[in-house]
Amino acid sequence: MSDDQPIISVKNLRVLVTGGTRGIGHSIARAFSESGAVVMLTGRNGETAAAAAATLAGQAHGFALDVASEDSVLALAADIYSRHGGIDVLINNAGINPHYARIEATSTPSWSEIIRTNLDGVFYCCKHLSKSMREDRKGSVINISSVGGKVGLKRQVPYCASKGGVEQITRALAVDWADEGIRVNGISYGFIETDLTAASIKHPHIGPRLLARTPMGRFGRLDEVSGAAIFLASNAASYITGHTIMVDGGWTAG
Ligand code: NDP
Repeated sequence: MSDDQPIISVKNLRVLVTGGTRGIGHSIARAFSESGAVVMLTGRNGETAAAAAATLAGQAHGFALDVASEDSVLALAADIYSRHGGIDVLINNAGINPHYARIEATSTPSWSEIIRTNLDGVFYCCKHLSKSMREDRKGSVINISSVGGKVGLKRQVPYCASKGGVEQITRALAVDWADEGIRVNGISYGFIETDLTAASIKHPHIGPRLLARTPMGRFGRLDEVSGAAIFLASNAASYITGHTIMVDGGWTAG
């Protein structure tokens, strides 16, 4: 690290954020962009992604990507490799949680939809978007998880299973890539107000129950999600791999 470089710097890093059109991914993309990184963000619709990238002040590019499709991930990898030479940081953020039901009322398609996006998607992206990092023998992967990856959440068996799997990908891949110079870490969020959680947070019974369960007594804000990502991507985290940081207002501390 040079003397004039701040300890936490992501300047000029090429950072890919999956699911960067809104919510947590967009907030993370904005923070990297404001910190001088070259941001590539994705959404299922290419025009939506381009429009989201255009709202960022720095260098930002939007790409179409469906993380649940291996072909889509392969196409994006080829596109990014030819246009930008690859990436330095991969943030696997795209995720869904559309069905709340006990397992006996959970259909196989509902289970598969969540697992394909939240778990298969992380597998495909780590596998196919890491080529340049493996060639350069440096880089950082950040997998976005949830308190549901650590503890059980009511009526969310597929979501919790997917996020528990993501956290194990983080540990196992960190071990595999430790000698390749690629760090693999995660961030596990509590309840942050986004499209994903709006129905639960605004629900007259569920919202207060979630708040009562949160030691800090409030939901997280979008301006509170990016710090951990910037830290993990920077040199300040150069000896940290295989770790998932909890950003959950104390949810899993209690
Ligand atoms: P949002 O619903 O607000 O945003 C989801 C993002 O993922 C969008 O940009 C969406 O893009 C993208 N996306 C969805 N499906 C796909 C797909 N198949 N391929 C590519 N992109 C996709 O969710 P949040 O911001 O709340 O959540 C982001 C991540 O954080 C998720 O992994 C979620 O599980 C996790 N998380 C969120 C918490 C919260 O409280 N909000 C708590 C814990 C974890 P588009 O629709 O444009 O395709």
